[in-house]
Amino acid sequence: MSAGTVMATDIRDVVIIGSGPAGLTAALYAARASLRPLVIEGLEAGGQLTLTTLVENWPGRRDGVMGPELMAEMRAQAEKFGAEIVAGHVTSVELGAQPFVLRVDDQEIRTRTLIIATGASARLLGLPSERVLMGHGVSTCATCDGFFFRGKPIAIVGGGDTAMEEALYLTRFASTVTVIHRRDTLRASKAMADRALAHPKIQWRWNSAVERVLDEGKGEVTGIELRDLVTGETSTLAVDGVFVAIGHTPNTGLFQGQLEADVNGYLITHDGTKTSRPGVFAAGDVQDHVYRQAITAAGSGCMAAIDAQHFLEEHFPATHHPDGALEEKVAHAIQPPPMTSSPS
Ligand code: FAD
Ligand code: NAP
Repeated sequence: MSAGTVMATDIRDVVIIGSGPAGLTAALYAARASLRPLVIEGLEAGGQLTLTTLVENWPGRRDGVMGPELMAEMRAQAEKFGAEIVAGHVTSVELGAQPFVLRVDDQEIRTRTLIIATGASARLLGLPSERVLMGHGVSTCATCDGFFFRGKPIAIVGGGDTAMEEALYLTRFASTVTVIHRRDTLRASKAMADRALAHPKIQWRWNSAVERVLDEGKGEVTGIELRDLVTGETSTLAVDGVFVAIGHTPNTGLFQGQLEADVNGYLITHDGTKTSRPGVFAAGDVQDHVYRQAITAAGSGCMAAIDAQHFLEEHFPATHHPDGALEEKVAHAIQPPPMTSSPS
């Protein structure tokens, strides 16, 4: 992180972990509320949208906007109102007592409220060609990118509920949807599997693994190389798009044992963006395994900033000296409730 920006003795009002749509929107709102938020941007500055090209469903941009451009604009807008955004990766947090303590590399940061916007990462197959063609025909989000494949053949990898749901959704656009699954039985729930199996546009390649996405040289998807895991035979399937739907992992390892999470590790929020620890709020994909959109992440980032502001007003009523320094009048004791579950 940029050295010297944060003194170990300072106690911040609001620290935000993550610089995707949720984190930067929280920063914008907190900055406009004069809370001087600190954003720790993480290894993926700008978040998941920096991995994609055209975003067509961001309201107000009729012709769409490139993902990296949208995130650069969000960052600049938050900074314009006074948000401090620093490079760095949070390696540990202590949320048991006020102030909360975060470690970023060798620096310690203390804060009265924390907004967690660390997102979730789509699991990938781990192929070099998949990485190269991500956003150029390879996608992890049918809602985001299905529209680009109107009338074209596509493949979807995975055999769970997400893969079935996305395969069914993609039949609205694609000429054919071929599901590639590594076994001969689906993991998806029976109802979802039955719907997909009965759909005339969906074809199946069982016991199959994607070995390579073609064509890195052209910079666009023209097909996939498949290996039959029973016979060992290889084949090529011509497709214009590949959707990888093998699950997501929320970035919540840092909070394990300190905040309530569901069985898949997503942080549980209630009454807006409150977590199980008073003063700690969560926004975006880290607490949302259903919608997973930039606009919903941004919306919950806005909510988290307002929730943090209300928390500070209630527990740390404060006034600004003429020189701008913050004077605490009262700090109520804030006891965390008992834990009932933790991230898996
Ligand atoms: P993210 O964007 O995932 O950001 C998480 C942030 O947390 C990152 O900045 C990361 O560096 C930081 N972080 C994580 N761990 C730490 C740590 N320990 N310390 C510090 N920082 C940390 N949505 C749409 O609405 N429209 C689209 O067209 C669209 N296209 C997409 C295309 C692709 C290829 C992908 C992958 C996603 C797409 N999405 C789209 C989904 C959208 O990008 C996400 O829903 C959104 O980015 C979630 O925002 P977020 O702020 O919650 O998290
Ligand atoms: P999931 O249930 O874990 O399924 C992941 C699928 O991807 C599995 O079929 C798995 O194969 C396959 N897979 C994993 N790693 C792979 C790899 N490296 N290569 C190839 N294939 C791989 O994940 P999910 O489908 O995202 O679902 C997550 C949870 O959300 C589940 O509880 C699910 O029920 C729920 N969900 C519900 C709905 C709904 O009800 N509408 C919709 C979406 C998700 P194997 O089968 O061989 O393990």
